[in-house]
Amino acid sequence: MEKQKISGALAPSLTARTGSFKLLSIFGISIHINYTWFIVVVLVAWSLASGYFPQQVPGRSSLIYWGMGFLASIVFFLCILAHEMSHSYMSKKSGIPVPRITLFVFGGVAHISREPGDPGTEFKIALAGPLMSAILWGLFFGLWVLFGTIYETSLISALFGILAVVNGAVAIFNLVPGFPLDGGRLLRAYIWKKTGNLNKATFITSQVGKVFAIGLIFLGFFQLLVGEIIGGMWLIFIGFFLEQAATSGYQQTLLRESLTGTKVKEIMSPDPISVNESISLNELVENFFFKHRFASYPVVKDGKFLGYVTLNHIKHLPRERWDKLRVADVMNTLPPELFLHPEEEAVEALSKMVRSGRGRLPVVDKEKLVGILTRKDVMSFLQIKTDLGIHKPRTT
Ligand SMILES: [Zn+2]
Repeated sequence: MEKQKISGALAPSLTARTGSFKLLSIFGISIHINYTWFIVVVLVAWSLASGYFPQQVPGRSSLIYWGMGFLASIVFFLCILAHEMSHSYMSKKSGIPVPRITLFVFGGVAHISREPGDPGTEFKIALAGPLMSAILWGLFFGLWVLFGTIYETSLISALFGILAVVNGAVAIFNLVPGFPLDGGRLLRAYIWKKTGNLNKATFITSQVGKVFAIGLIFLGFFQLLVGEIIGGMWLIFIGFFLEQAATSGYQQTLLRESLTGTKVKEIMSPDPISVNESISLNELVENFFFKHRFASYPVVKDGKFLGYVTLNHIKHLPRERWDKLRVADVMNTLPPELFLHPEEEAVEALSKMVRSGRGRLPVVDKEKLVGILTRKDVMSFLQIKTDLGIHKPRTT
């Protein structure tokens, strides 16, 4: 059982795909439960109710074992929440907002709104979580010893015993020095401080992360061979998850570094071909779709950006209506928060694209359409930079 703080794209995308609901708010951070979380709560409860508790305290009813299993499982996730809250507390204290914590199948994730700008901050935020888990480990260990001396065998001391073990395991697992685990972040902060090179630090620690992930996958297959089906599958899933998180975390750091200091106006396609809202669909097809062969056009009125029109907007409409309908009748508008400004940072533009799932966004200045930025524009800019070997030094 583990958890990790992943500010890469993967955990948020996994939790977004499968859906979550908000449970409550603590200190202004909303706590979300992802639906996949229920799977692991039941699995943990089941494994404790069928294995651990009957072994520790024999002779009770299965209802009691299941009750204890669920209790332990819920308290365990409260401990995970405490771990994430510690990261979040330190992050907020360092001036980096944390809007949300999500509990999901692989533990918890604190959605830290941006990467720390210096190694010291990264170190503090990363350390807070394992520190909390270590404190809980000590606390439950103390309670286990205390209750163990009072009663020879008791469910309550068995409960404290298992909570001590899992918190210890969470602390140790997260201290493995592979990015994006907490230990990997600690090591990354250290190398970053020593070398001043965040890319290099991320590269080294994400390689360690990948080796660790592949090790887990092998261990998982080994467990499958000896008949530990659920434990083996679990390790394999975690291994794959961590491997991908290490890869995407490194790519994001590279991307962020390469784009830092670049403005939207430097990489956008200026003066895009746009269509007037008043033309008919016939004209649109003849003069735009056939002529320029783009699948989507921005729509303007006196240069003012209104929305966009795509092939999908018209292809289901009967051809005899194309003459009567105007572009304004079929186009889609776009929420203004998705408009880009020429002076905006390219990093921010890219994150708007990722968040909205759109590959192209309009660049608008004083309501006028001045350009279009596509994901392809960003990628080819990065490609050219890489080909020329240009790296802007990081200034922190
Ligand atoms: Zn953590």
